[in-house]
Amino acid sequence: MKKQFLTITSIMTMSINLAAHQDLFQTIEINRDRILVEEILTEAEQASLTPLDVLNSLAAGNERFVGNDLTARDHSFQVRESADSQFPKAIVLSCVDSRVPVEDVFDKGIGDIFVARVAGNFINDDILGSMEFATKVSGAKLILVLGHENCGAIHAAIDGAELGHITKMLENIMPAVEISTIANGPRSSKNRLLVHEVVENNVRNALQKIKKESSILSTMFEKGEIDIKGAVYDMDTGVVIFL
Ligand SMILES: [Zn+2]
Repeated sequence: MKKQFLTITSIMTMSINLAAHQDLFQTIEINRDRILVEEILTEAEQASLTPLDVLNSLAAGNERFVGNDLTARDHSFQVRESADSQFPKAIVLSCVDSRVPVEDVFDKGIGDIFVARVAGNFINDDILGSMEFATKVSGAKLILVLGHENCGAIHAAIDGAELGHITKMLENIMPAVEISTIANGPRSSKNRLLVHEVVENNVRNALQKIKKESSILSTMFEKGEIDIKGAVYDMDTGVVIFL
């Protein structure tokens, strides 16, 4: 991906003149020098990437996120550049949790990645269809299932919560709860070790289900055209741990 820096220093000056309060008069200067302009991934650039390249790109982006060194992007420019087409490099399946900002977590911008989200990041036919679209139709090279610690959906599944449509939704997570038998202590969401075990097993179940239920994706995986990986996002540190 080609990157370039704007060379013109732009000083945005905002003055607030409070006639009635001269002591509060102030000038605020924001230096917008060196805002990064990142061009959108092209079809040729997407085609040249290997699944490992994409995985490394996500890992490097997460390092920048953890280091509070996110790329400053010109989103208006990116919106215009990507309006006619898209060639993202990966599809990430994440929970809906507001504390997991997927693009930021991997320091990615507009047009970089597809993101599918459902509470508890489980697989169903709609998610599989989205993954097939992202890879077979649109050329993405990596499927990443991203679970996270302190997941409310995982907590609810462990505790057997029942409410409206949530009850049926949690059935998708129950297989991970049932196979999680290593952690000692109570079978409740207060048991952090159990929650951690279920989070990881839920991601692994999703990976198995992708390969088992989608012949398109399993064939692409066997041919090395895509990789299918799992990871868990650590809420305390921002670190993504690949399984
Ligand atoms: Zn969650």
